[in-house]
Amino acid sequence: MKNDWLQPLIDQMYAKHLPHNAGEVASYIPELGKANPNDFGISLATADGQIFEAGDSTRPFTIQSISKPFTYGMAIELHGHAKVSARVGVEPSGDVFNSIQLEKDSHRPFNPMINAGAITVSALLYEHYGDEALEQLLARFSAAAGHPLSVDEAVYQSEKRTGHRNRAIAHLLLNFGMVEEKVEQALDLYFKQCSILVNTRDLAVMGATLSNLGKNPFTGVDVYDIDRVKDMLSIMFTCGLYDYSGEWAYKVGVPAKSGVSGGVMSVVNRQLGFATYSPRLDARGNSCRGIEVCVDLANELGLHVFDCMNMGSSYLKAML
Ligand code: GLN
Repeated sequence: MKNDWLQPLIDQMYAKHLPHNAGEVASYIPELGKANPNDFGISLATADGQIFEAGDSTRPFTIQSISKPFTYGMAIELHGHAKVSARVGVEPSGDVFNSIQLEKDSHRPFNPMINAGAITVSALLYEHYGDEALEQLLARFSAAAGHPLSVDEAVYQSEKRTGHRNRAIAHLLLNFGMVEEKVEQALDLYFKQCSILVNTRDLAVMGATLSNLGKNPFTGVDVYDIDRVKDMLSIMFTCGLYDYSGEWAYKVGVPAKSGVSGGVMSVVNRQLGFATYSPRLDARGNSCRGIEVCVDLANELGLHVFDCMNMGSSYLKAML
């Protein structure tokens, strides 16, 4: 059903939050520091294939940690729950995204949304696909976005050159048997997956694909099985914003994932994908303005999963 009120609402959100200039662009990956701090894009894609957007919605930036739920879904598909959960947990860590902490007895990373967990997941993909892993990953991400995506070589090189902390995490994981020997190859895959170029339109469509039971609503291509979508959205809901995840669940109440280049992708199950880009970050590595817009939009549209306006999406409800 076509609607004529959503575009004016997105325009209004854009205008309202345009003056917001808190936060700092990430510079620990030197190439990310080159981003224009004023860039600001919003895109919303519905599960029935409509797009509404404002501002710099086609400005490219690297996906960074927003890649993590998508690779997690692939790893479970390839290796099954038992093997994946022996290597990476599903508990919010309450810690920063690049924390070097592992679970006390199991030595697993706490969850796949922090770097330690995501590197473990990349290693699982490498373990299965070997040198084909990047190609497979790009094909899947591209299917979710609805067009071919590629790696930003400069950001990749920059991450590879300066990623000493991630390298340390990977070697700690190797020490505890969470990843296999080919740790450099797994890290390389991780750096490349983080350096995939997207814009808010791509992320909104990727989110809409998850909202639409894993089928891209624009191309009709089945990208993820519905059981994997459930895994991905669950982990995004509890861990998607690192040590801000609890507050996010409280204030916005939808599964989401942020990345240090300034993107935030949110999913409203069975309804829509929503993405913002604004590279100024808070101390936790989340986009300041992106969070503000998401809080505002969730309130405006009653998107929170426990909002009394949200009708929910369960099968049982449809039967009653
Ligand atoms: N590539 C980034 C890193 O490993 C991803 C982190 C993020 O987006 N939070 O540091």
